[in-house]
Amino acid sequence: MKPNCFLIAISFIFWMLISSNHILAQNSSAPHISGKVRISMKDGLIASDIILSNIPIKDTAFRINLNRGMNIKLFKDSATVLKYNNPPGDEYISYRLHNGKGYVDAPKKLNITYSGAFPIYNESNNFYDYQGVIALNGKTLRATNYSKWYPVIYDTKNDTELLDMTYDLMVECTDCKTIFLNGSEAQPGPIARFKSEKAYGLLLFTGDYEVQKFSESNFLNAEMPVDMAEAFNKQISSIKGFLESKLEIPYGQKITFIQHKAIEPYGPNKSWGFVVFPSIAVAGGRFNDQIDMKTKKFNHLIKCSFYAHELSHYYFGTVLIPDSTLRWFFLESIPEYLSVKATEKEYGKQATVDYINNAKTFLEKKTIIPLSKITKPEQIDDVYRYTYGPLLLLALEKKVGEKKIYKMFQKALAGKNSKTDYSFLVKIAKEAAISGLEWKSFEDDLINNQQLDVLFEHLNTVKK
Ligand SMILES: [Zn+2]
Repeated sequence: MKPNCFLIAISFIFWMLISSNHILAQNSSAPHISGKVRISMKDGLIASDIILSNIPIKDTAFRINLNRGMNIKLFKDSATVLKYNNPPGDEYISYRLHNGKGYVDAPKKLNITYSGAFPIYNESNNFYDYQGVIALNGKTLRATNYSKWYPVIYDTKNDTELLDMTYDLMVECTDCKTIFLNGSEAQPGPIARFKSEKAYGLLLFTGDYEVQKFSESNFLNAEMPVDMAEAFNKQISSIKGFLESKLEIPYGQKITFIQHKAIEPYGPNKSWGFVVFPSIAVAGGRFNDQIDMKTKKFNHLIKCSFYAHELSHYYFGTVLIPDSTLRWFFLESIPEYLSVKATEKEYGKQATVDYINNAKTFLEKKTIIPLSKITKPEQIDDVYRYTYGPLLLLALEKKVGEKKIYKMFQKALAGKNSKTDYSFLVKIAKEAAISGLEWKSFEDDLINNQQLDVLFEHLNTVKK
């Protein structure tokens, strides 16, 4: 349950790695959150009066997870004030609700009133930061979905936190110039009301900062010269256009880029970042060192591929929410493949050749379980999902051509309620007019062939 934290040098690796931690979901069965949140930036205070509704659990198999710094005033269903057990947690406390006689079924509506005070880390003494921390630096407050600044329903049966919620929240902050809640546009303080019928991970970003708005992206606290922000926005827009043309579904999502001062003194060359779709945030890093103002493009192709990967998650992660055995192949390998293609469009074919050569080093001595033999999602580990999976798709592309691959992806998005297992993959391949013969040769030569040399040979020799 603990989120990964990426503390890495601001380098190519940074842009590669910050992408791997995000949960994306939007559906009508998501819980709904409403109520009021009061913030004092000066004192580090958060006081909330929240109502959770549309709770998709019918029995006692739920907990309410909340940041450990929050003190409960009350839990109340529509009729009574509820008691709770709270075994000690790590960065959050998990509350189990009862009425004095027995544990209660998940109520239709649950009112939770709580408040907490958090340190303002405006000196260089703090030694850690990650998504679980409610981070105040004297200028901004950052509270991600993983920090559980809002009550998160934990489904014990499925071992899942329902982090994404639809919302109707009033945020009051007398000393905030700007208030932002993920999935909505930033609003001026001191009072802002946010409503969304789509579910999002609730990343809250408030404080004394400016907003720069463009057609495809908004920048919060980025302090970029206007022409640079415009160039950045244009790059993002070009990647979105590429994805829309290949997948034939309008993008329809604005991306918010958030920059804030790190609360851990990492040193001048270090930084970390995270994604809570559709927001991309950096702590310590800067968006204004990524654009080459001569070409008006990203100053390295790895930055282009990072953003292309993240933007692809709108399709694979939001439109389609992968599950089942090939969850990670659909959730990460396809966006990674799309990022290779988007980068090739911007920087030419050599970019893909370099990608393949670079991938070789990650796969050395790697034992691969054939995609058709995966029985548990976890068998597709990081190297499999970010390196081997995309290579497999590139190899299939060499056999059947790019068009059929995109068709296959379109079919996957159209079948969004299906289980993303191997038979689904075979099905969408067929629907994309990949012949039985072509698929059989792909299976025999590549999927079931554990000799990675054969894969690289195929990638390097078949039509350049
Ligand atoms: Zn990803």
